[in-house]
Amino acid sequence: MGEGKNFRNSTTDVFGDARHEMVETQIRKRHVSDGRVLDCLERIPRHEFIPAEFRDRAYEDAPLPIGEGQTISQPYIVAAMTAALRLQGNERVLEIGTGFGYQAAVLSCLAREVFTMEFRAELATEAAERLARLHYSNVHVHCGDGTLGLPDFAPYDAILVAAAAPSVPPPLLAQLAENGRMIVPVGGVENQDLRLIQRSHDTFLTTMLEPCRFVPLVGAHGWKECS
Ligand code: SAH
Repeated sequence: MGEGKNFRNSTTDVFGDARHEMVETQIRKRHVSDGRVLDCLERIPRHEFIPAEFRDRAYEDAPLPIGEGQTISQPYIVAAMTAALRLQGNERVLEIGTGFGYQAAVLSCLAREVFTMEFRAELATEAAERLARLHYSNVHVHCGDGTLGLPDFAPYDAILVAAAAPSVPPPLLAQLAENGRMIVPVGGVENQDLRLIQRSHDTFLTTMLEPCRFVPLVGAHGWKECS
């Protein structure tokens, strides 16, 4: 974990109390109890990953728009998906759907290395700049179709898909390491179920976690782009 991430004690962090409140009321109360996840949500300045016009709503119990019809997930969903991966600190993680980079920042505090893919070039460029400026130096942003994964750096101990897939993209299953865990929303465009997939050799054990609502995953193994 690099320097500059502990904003909690900084006098410049006017959002510290709101963030603490977010962790206690939205996350701990909803039974996400992994101490490492709670600790990192308490420290990461979520407001830095929200467009300026919505910054005062950064710690609300809701998803928020990040432009181009996309959204940053509600804090609880970020926490629940991250906790399901059970990261210990030494993993190589792949995220699909960088958006503004908040989820990538959370993963970067809990794993050794994070590769994150964003389909939209402008979002990818801006997220890379933002993550570098905030010293998340173990995050690598790649622009491209995440439904194909990122074979050059595979296998991944954990994969987090932050957009709704019509079905689990086969390249992502192939790039999951032995004993690896993937969390992915699967279903229709409007509503999905959060699935946890655990690999054991060539067997993939799927557990349904909870209903959810994400923006569509586009690309070769996603939905056809309609915008
Ligand atoms: N994790 C983000 C929010 C993700 S929103 C955050 O914390 O801010 C979902 C993102 O997935 C959008 O930015 C969208 O452009 C991206 N996306 C959709 N399909 C994709 C694909 N095939 N590959 C990579 N990114 C994709």
